[in-house]
Amino acid sequence: MSRHKCIATKACVNRAPGVFELDATRVSSVKNPNGEPLEAILEAAEACPTGAITVLQDGKKIS
Ligand code: SF4
Repeated sequence: MSRHKCIATKACVNRAPGVFELDATRVSSVKNPNGEPLEAILEAAEACPTGAITVLQDGKKIS
């Protein structure tokens, strides 16, 4: 998560609420990296308008 890129659209929170939340400063953060199926996490990453979300699997970047 590149928090400095977050503009608080909540697109990630809406698609994967088990993983992402807006913190007290209204910036998205990861509360549980395993909180949703991978498909939902990938959708969240693709929905982010600023490309703030990077998805890693087994240490490799997949989105
Ligand atoms: S989708 Fe991107 S810009 Fe929107 S809240 Fe999530 S991280 Fe921030």
